[in-house]
Amino acid sequence: MSLSIIGNWKSNGSLESNKSWIHDFKYSINDSEISNVAICPPFTYLDQMISLTSNLGLSIGSQDIDSSSGARTGSISVNACKDIGCCFSIVGHSERREIFDESNMFLRQKLITAQESGFQVIFCIGEPKEQQLAGTTNNFLEKQIIESLSDLELLDGFTIAYEPIWAIGTGEIPDVKDINATHKFIKDIVQSSSKNNFTPNVLYGGSVTSKNAEVLFKEKYIDGALIGGASLNGKEFAEIVNIFKNRGF
Ligand code: PEP
Repeated sequence: MSLSIIGNWKSNGSLESNKSWIHDFKYSINDSEISNVAICPPFTYLDQMISLTSNLGLSIGSQDIDSSSGARTGSISVNACKDIGCCFSIVGHSERREIFDESNMFLRQKLITAQESGFQVIFCIGEPKEQQLAGTTNNFLEKQIIESLSDLELLDGFTIAYEPIWAIGTGEIPDVKDINATHKFIKDIVQSSSKNNFTPNVLYGGSVTSKNAEVLFKEKYIDGALIGGASLNGKEFAEIVNIFKNRGF
């Protein structure tokens, strides 16, 4: 399944506010047939969100998974997520890389574990501000890709989310033409370094809202978006989905 618009709720939500979110989303979405749209709530709300969205066509994924199972106190395994009907996970979000010190090699192991269980992965990469200012974004992204993905057989539905770290939650986004060129570069590097020459869909993430979605979605290599802040409001998230569906190709 290819996912195009994904909301990352991070550590937000509550049993009550999740119900209001569904209400707002449902009454703001134009299309009765929703597909390729997903939400990643915190682990504790996965089960509730899977039940609340069962007749809506929204997919539910986790924000992370562990690299294995067993004696790993506090961690959540791929099989535990699959067991409750969760179908994919974000892996390698910059907050996991920065706050929890997750390296390219560790993320590679998460990806291998997920794929062994047939679990879909949305793999995040993105450069810090210093790299962007120095003009070395592509070198930085290439290293992330090579160290985590090279020589792996990537499963159908494997997707990259390109999220410049300096654009996350800041309201600042790169020029859309630059994002488009970066997505083309990412597709080429993944294609040439993966074992099965897989060309992934590439989502853009970093301060996407209903105000900038239209210009982003007009670009050829922007296959959708990973959305943080703007996904916390069901109406705003639905509006972005509506814009994506109307993009005309
Ligand atoms: C994110 O954290 O994945 C993200 C894209 O956040 P925001 O949309 O708030 O910039």
